[in-house]
Amino acid sequence: MLVIISGPSGSGKGTVIKKLNRQDFALSISMTTREPRAGEVPGKDYFFCTKEEFILARDNNHLLEHAEFVGNMYGTPKKYVEEQIEQGKAVILEIDVEGALQIKEKFKDSISIFLMPLTFKELATRLVMRKTEDVDTVIRRIRRARSEIEYIHRYDYLVINDEIESTVTKIQKIIDSEYLKPHRNEEYIESIKGDDYDATAVLLRIDDEN
Ligand code: 5GP
Repeated sequence: MLVIISGPSGSGKGTVIKKLNRQDFALSISMTTREPRAGEVPGKDYFFCTKEEFILARDNNHLLEHAEFVGNMYGTPKKYVEEQIEQGKAVILEIDVEGALQIKEKFKDSISIFLMPLTFKELATRLVMRKTEDVDTVIRRIRRARSEIEYIHRYDYLVINDEIESTVTKIQKIIDSEYLKPHRNEEYIESIKGDDYDATAVLLRIDDEN
């Protein structure tokens, strides 16, 4: 199962994802040409790379999807995601709308969640307060956020991040409910079909004994 989480920078995607129950899923780590922010760990937050390295990975078909976001390139390495899916794990992709559309096209069964802040004021405040980008970049990111709203209807779920704990609960519930869909439980369905326990015979015997 692939779970796409998109939303403007500053909507709190990173914080929410960190709080989800990690036993249930694997988190895909993207490649990016963006400079690492203070505190970001290469190989944990992102695989930071040069533009040339990114283009090489893209052209060699090593990326599941890719997009340009406010002047930098971002992409999902294919191998890790495919390995996790093979092991039956849910994989969370924290990607932008462009990448999300590519994934939805390739994996019809993926679930997509759009995370939004309650207001643009809140979004702008968060972006400014975290001091990870200069003013120009913050402005470009807010502009981008406005244009991303047009894509909300292409997503399966819209979650408004007004309070972090309840947002985490909502996303966890979405994922938990997805696991209950019949087509995600084919193994059980097949096994119960093959279960030849003969209830009638057993019940008649008990009846006889009494
Ligand atoms: P940031 O620079 O704030 O870490 O990320 C900027 C945007 O790029 C965010 O919307 C984030 O979700 C998106 N992003 C991160 N990794 C990927 C990726 O692998 N593919 C795509 N398409 N977008 C990504």
